[in-house]
Parts: sequence; C-alpha cells; structure tokens
Amino acid sequence: KVESDMSQVAAKTTSHLWNAMHRYNPDAQTMMAVSGKGSWFVDEKGKNYLDGVSGLWCLNLGYGREEIAEAAAAQMKQLSYFPLTMNHPPAVKLAGKISELLGGNYQTFFSNSGSEANETAFKIVRQYHNQTGNPGKYKIISRYRAYHGSTLGALSATAQANRRVKYDPSAPGFLHVYPPYSYRSIFGDNPEESDLKAAQMLEEMINWEGEETVAAFIMEPFISGGGVIIPSPKYLQRVAEICKKHNVLLIIDEVVSGYGRTGEMFGFMHSAGVKPDIVTMAKGLTSGYLPLGATSVKSEIYEAFKQEGKDSHLRHVSTYGGHPAACAVALKNIEIIEKENIVARVRELGRKKLGQLHGLADHKNVGEVRQAGFLLGIEMVADKATKQPVDEASVAAIVNACKEKGLIIGKNGDTVPGFNNVLILAPPLTSTEEDLDFIVDTVNAVIRGI
Ligand code: PMP
Repeated sequence: KVESDMSQVAAKTTSHLWNAMHRYNPDAQTMMAVSGKGSWFVDEKGKNYLDGVSGLWCLNLGYGREEIAEAAAAQMKQLSYFPLTMNHPPAVKLAGKISELLGGNYQTFFSNSGSEANETAFKIVRQYHNQTGNPGKYKIISRYRAYHGSTLGALSATAQANRRVKYDPSAPGFLHVYPPYSYRSIFGDNPEESDLKAAQMLEEMINWEGEETVAAFIMEPFISGGGVIIPSPKYLQRVAEICKKHNVLLIIDEVVSGYGRTGEMFGFMHSAGVKPDIVTMAKGLTSGYLPLGATSVKSEIYEAFKQEGKDSHLRHVSTYGGHPAACAVALKNIEIIEKENIVARVRELGRKKLGQLHGLADHKNVGEVRQAGFLLGIEMVADKATKQPVDEASVAAIVNACKEKGLIIGKNGDTVPGFNNVLILAPPLTSTEEDLDFIVDTVNAVIRGI
C-alpha cells in the first residue's frame, strides 16, 4: 500500500517539481527518499542506500536523531517564532556557544542558508570599511574553483565560470585568484611550495588592485564543491598574514568544513594561530535538520557598527533568520557533537577506515586521493602522466555503479568542461565502523572493476 502511494507521489513530482541539478543526476526525478536512520535512507521503492555524501554534505549527525526532532518540537511549542530584530533565548544561547567554539569574542548574525551567510558577510565587510575611514575598500577576492552559494552576490564569489555564465553580469567588485591546487599547479610539483606561491598571488592581486580598494578575501579551508582540494596548513597561515598586512578582512566559509567534518571543529583550526575576521556557516550547524545560516564576526568588527549618534547599524534583516526552532536544533546538534566526541571520532575513523581508500592511488585511473577527516575526493584521470581527466561518462558510470550497490557518492571538480572528474565522499560523522567498511569496500570494488 505504502509502495503504491509512493509511486503516485513520484509521478506527481516528476510533473510539477523543479528538480535542481538533474543535469548531473538524470535519475534524480525518479529517485525519492521517504525515510532515513543513521547513515541510511530508504527510497520510494523500499531500497536502502548508504548516504555517502550526507545529503549535500550537511547531515553531519545522520538521519533520524530523535533528540534533535524533539528539541525542534519543544521549541515550537514554547515559542514558535520571534524575529531577530528583537531577541529570543535560543538565538542568544547559540550565539554564545558559537563564540566559545570559535575561541571567544565573536558576534553572530543569523540567517537561513550558506548563501545568505556569505551575502551577509559581504555587506558587513563593505559597511565596516565604510565606517572605519576606508570607504573605497569594496572588492571581494575569492579563488577559482570555489563555491560560495547560489544567490547573485555569493554566485559572484563562486569562481566556477559555468555556474555563473548564464546569469551574467555577475556583481561588480568580485575578483578571483589561483587556488592552492597542488595536483595541477602551475607553481611546480612541491605541494607546500606551490600552495605558498598560490597564497602569494593574493598579495600580488591586492597590490595590483590597490589595497585601498580591497575589502575582503573569502575562502573555504578545504575547497569542497570544487574537487576536494586540501592545501598545506601553511597556506591559510600565509593568507591570514597577507590579509592582516593589507587590512583585508579574512572570511572563512565553514559551510561544509564546520562542525567536525574535517577532524577539527572548524576547518581553519588545522592552521594553528589563525583567527578569522569572519566565519560563515550553515549545513553542519544544524546537521541539516532545519535551515540556519550564521555569520560570526570578531567583536572588534561588531563594535564599528555601534557608533554613538550615527546611523552605523547593519541595514540587513532576515525574517526567518535565526528561527527559534532552528537555533534549538543547532544547540542540540552541538551538544551531541561534544557529548559523543564526534571530532575525535572523525579524526580516528577518518584515518583508520576512510583512509584505506588512499590504497587506490596505485590504480591507473586514480590521479590523487585527497582527504581531511570525513571529506574525501578521488581525482580520476585517463592518464597519470599527463593528468588528462577521464571522460565525464566514466565518472558518472562509477557513481551509478555505487548507487546500484546501495551507496550514494558524488562527483564534482570544476565546471570547465571535462574537469568534473573528482569522486566525492562525505558520509555522516556518526557512520558506524560497518558503514565505513561498506563505503570502502564498495568504492574499492567499483574502481578496481574498471
Ligand atoms: N558555501 C559552501 C562552501 C557551500 O558548499 C555551499 C552549498 N553547497 C554554500 C556556501 C551555500 O549554501 P546554501 O546552499 O545553504 O545556500
């Protein structure tokens, strides 16, 4: 009975739902999840899949955590909604908790998504410079291959041309530098050296543009959507020095890497001594249970928005931003991450289990295996010497073969034609050892079978 009801729902969906991304997944319109528990979900036909990409790398604690659902329900009964143009306790508590996790002295503006968190950051940096005597500082620099969101400002920082080209012109004032992509670097074969040279390009760009025009640099600690790029920890340290020297605010996009995914609470924490000016987050902040975005700024920056007698406040509002239920969910999510030692778990099992996939590096079509905790990319090449990517159909065939075996994996890279050649794994951080064995065995079997 349930099955036939579900197939009717599927048929209706196909006719009326605008299904994002179906170019990448032609099956998307016929596949539907109806329930989930732990790392697994069930489709409308009753087949079980291990979700090796945590939805869109957001379900850090997996599906079906009762405590999180209960926290949302309890908050909705207590206070269903209140705007953050005023205050409510879950938002106040959560902002305090986030500040503590970031090492203290941060103020947080809440929104509903990663895109919105980045948009908020861009407005904050421009206004900050404006009212601290540097009104000409407006340019925002990001890196090629980066993804920072789908709204027009965040898309302008998203430096994958083919995601933007149909929506041009993108917002003025957004510039892009070379990423620390040591596998294909123009700066030579030594990964650390080439990463540091990529960092140096940022300083070159600031000098060329004139530091009096540059407001901020935004980066993910590990580029996720652009092919899982894992730079040396020194890259971010060098970037932070350059930003400080030129009064360019450093925005760290922790939308994917935040909340334990890479084996630290935040990705930037792999680079000792770095204290970002602004940190943006979403996804793992609630483990995907409810939408929530957050833009956390150092208190010194926040202070500039409180100038006595001047119109200095942030002209930015979000009706649903910091929804009480979403904040309650985030608090419960963080409580579980701490109580269950998720960050240490990711570090340990990332090495012991997912790390086994580094063994694939000897395969003729595997160019490089890159990993930080539970974030892993396998770059597929037709020829190891020339690093020519495999054709996209072969990458899709691997993804589909895994799916046949009950494992969902992803693929990404660059939108430059032919370079969407990186297989992606980002399983829930709570995946059991058996789940991780299943992932490793399945991916090994499929890749070894080609
Ligand atoms: N930044 C990064 C690094 C992301 O991966 C994403 C989403 N994939 C975003 C921002 C945008 O988040 P959202 O889809 O919640 O707007």
